[in-house]
Amino acid sequence: MPAISPNKPYRVGRSRTGLGLFATKPIKKGAKIVRYFGPLLDSKKKKDDAIENKYLFELNGRWTIDGSVRKNIARYINHACKPNAESDVSARKRKVVIRAIKNIEPGEEINYDYGTDYFKAYLKPIGCKCDACEKKRKKKRAEARAEKLRLKAKAEKKALKKAEKQAAKAKKKSEQKLEQKQKLKQAAKQRLNGARANGKLLNGHSGRAAASQLTAAKSGIFAEPASTQGGEASASA
Ligand SMILES: [Zn+2]
Repeated sequence: MPAISPNKPYRVGRSRTGLGLFATKPIKKGAKIVRYFGPLLDSKKKKDDAIENKYLFELNGRWTIDGSVRKNIARYINHACKPNAESDVSARKRKVVIRAIKNIEPGEEINYDYGTDYFKAYLKPIGCKCDACEKKRKKKRAEARAEKLRLKAKAEKKALKKAEKQAAKAKKKSEQKLEQKQKLKQAAKQRLNGARANGKLLNGHSGRAAASQLTAAKSGIFAEPASTQGGEASASA
């Protein structure tokens, strides 16, 4: 760890992505925190233009600060998509200052936005680990979990409904079967009763018929036939 004067409002410490710069004292919004410094590279010089590292801070088309030097404490400041500081660039003076854009409390990590070019080149491929992006990822994961649970519950409800429907259908079918069986049974009983009743009726009728025939026969014998009906009756006897 680099030695930092205790007068400074920050220290280097462990962060989510390795090392980071943390406030040790309250830092007021707008206050200068630390200068981002290093050798100036001239893109017109072949030797300078060949230098490649993660700490190059481009001031303009021509000038770039090589912040990879150890003395550059600002190089410990990590990127954040919703930072509490910014890089205040003065291309004319070829100077960069990291400035608070919010009140920063002791213990808070100091961050600034590295810009779209750096983000696209270095952070997007591995996934930005800043608080805002972690929060977003966490939210997305929670939402995905909730959605999964919702779908599972929906599927279970659907399965239950289907089972209930099938059970109701089966019950109805068995009830219909039972009803049909009872109907058949009843019909058979009715047929049986009907046969018995018919038998009785037939017996009764035949008895009565026999009696009337007897009467008719008697009237045929003992009386003059008064009508054709009586004649018929006597004839049939
Ligand atoms: Zn981020």
